[in-house]
Amino acid sequence: MLNILSLGAGVQSTTLALMAARGEVTPMPDCAIFADTQGEPMAVYKHLEWLCSPGVLPYPVHVVSRGNLWESATRVRRTRDGLRTYISTGIPAYTMDGETRGIGRRQCTRTFKIEPIVTEARRLLGRKQIRQTDGTLVSMWMGISLDEAIRRKPARQSWIEGRWPLLELGVTRQDCLDWMKRNGYPTPPKSSCTFCPYHDNEQWRALAADEFSDAVVKEKELQRAYAAASALRSTPYLHASRKPLGEIDFTSRSGQEPDLFNNECEGMCGV
Ligand code: SF4
Repeated sequence: MLNILSLGAGVQSTTLALMAARGEVTPMPDCAIFADTQGEPMAVYKHLEWLCSPGVLPYPVHVVSRGNLWESATRVRRTRDGLRTYISTGIPAYTMDGETRGIGRRQCTRTFKIEPIVTEARRLLGRKQIRQTDGTLVSMWMGISLDEAIRRKPARQSWIEGRWPLLELGVTRQDCLDWMKRNGYPTPPKSSCTFCPYHDNEQWRALAADEFSDAVVKEKELQRAYAAASALRSTPYLHASRKPLGEIDFTSRSGQEPDLFNNECEGMCGV
């Protein structure tokens, strides 16, 4: 059986990766897999580069990608019969259809995070076909902390067994930050796409100025894509207030939203 760590390069999965490297979680993983949406903040890519540098982790990190998530989230396609247009990959944008509020269908996590990791795990096993009778072939470690335990979900594949070592140890996100500091490691950034609608105000504020400006432009791109897709009638926004991102006062610290990543399936984003 392969022990594979699902690496998001954020606080929890980084702590788990380094705990395993130091033998505080056993056995030593065979590898880690990072699924790149090509939309993470520069801070995450720099942090990943450090994690992958010689002497940090004693096991390999495989970086896989399904391509550029944002391009897919704004690409308008036509159905085979030519009658309708739709968007390739939905992100969980906040929508307004007249007075009606909604949330866009989220396909990004499955298509750009879960499926590339599962495909890579299958490649590492060297098996094209896996049958239900083959039993468990992979123990997939997920960096979910005690305060986000609600995100723990079993894998859909019969041959993958989920493991949540931070839950086994009763470790919270703050414990992870403390552990990193105590052991002289850098504070990891929060991993998630720069344009992710699950961001709370603090995460929007934490983006670099150019990444925030880029998200403002991206919101308009998404609105244009929705307008061009006949299957979508609403207007999408990236912030929960359903106001244009560029018009929101992020200096106010009141009215923080709950961590919406808790809605996110299988704990693949924001860890
Ligand atoms: S971080 Fe947000 S936008 Fe990116 S894949 Fe996850 S849910 Fe989708």
